[in-house]
Amino acid sequence: MSHSFHPVIAIDGTAASGKSTFARQLARKLGFVYVNTGAMYRGVTWYLLEKKIPLNDAEAVTREVISAGVETRLHKGELAFRIAGIDPLPHVRESRVNEAVSLVAQLAGVRKLLVAEQQGLAALSPLVMEGRDIGTVVFPKTPYKFFLDADVEVRARRRSAQGESDVIRERDVLDRERKNSPLMCAADARRLDTGTATVDELVAQALEHLTARGLKTAGD
Ligand code: C5P
Repeated sequence: MSHSFHPVIAIDGTAASGKSTFARQLARKLGFVYVNTGAMYRGVTWYLLEKKIPLNDAEAVTREVISAGVETRLHKGELAFRIAGIDPLPHVRESRVNEAVSLVAQLAGVRKLLVAEQQGLAALSPLVMEGRDIGTVVFPKTPYKFFLDADVEVRARRRSAQGESDVIRERDVLDRERKNSPLMCAADARRLDTGTATVDELVAQALEHLTARGLKTAGD
């Protein structure tokens, strides 16, 4: 799909940079649906781990995901994602998923499938979509793009405060260096440092930026 019917706000950035908190709050302010594409890659990874599929076997992984089938819908204003008919969401923050997700996310077959699902959602609703390639690959033509980052120490502290063991440095390296859709800041994205401002301040800045770029919101 080359164009989206509804506006899409693309939010990319490094691991644990605060994308979800920011994106959720921005979506609430705008009345847009919030979509976390990381949860989709995580859900697929959880399923493959359950099935004991060797993650370094690109063909076996792609075959398994295609035959399981993924389903992406919006339900009560939220992303509803299923693989093989199962909702993987309760499992996606497991440490084993944190450790394996970037291996799965580098595979072209998996990305192709999930990117098509993500693009399809823009036909249903205005979106705030967060991930790693939203402004560069999934919706490169949207004029509304943000790239979030913070010092790696700040991000590591944020994860442990959430009680999670995460391999954020390793994920960033894999995400940045992969061949398919590497993590990068789109040339036309607005950069936000989440280590030096509060979420409220960042959301206020973002709303100003979006208005300046011509986004019409419900209140206009
Ligand atoms: O956003 P989150 O940290 O939950 O994403 C988990 C992983 O999923 C990332 O480290 C990355 O490997 C992958 N991902 C991706 N493309 C996206 C969203 C997530 O490759 N659009």
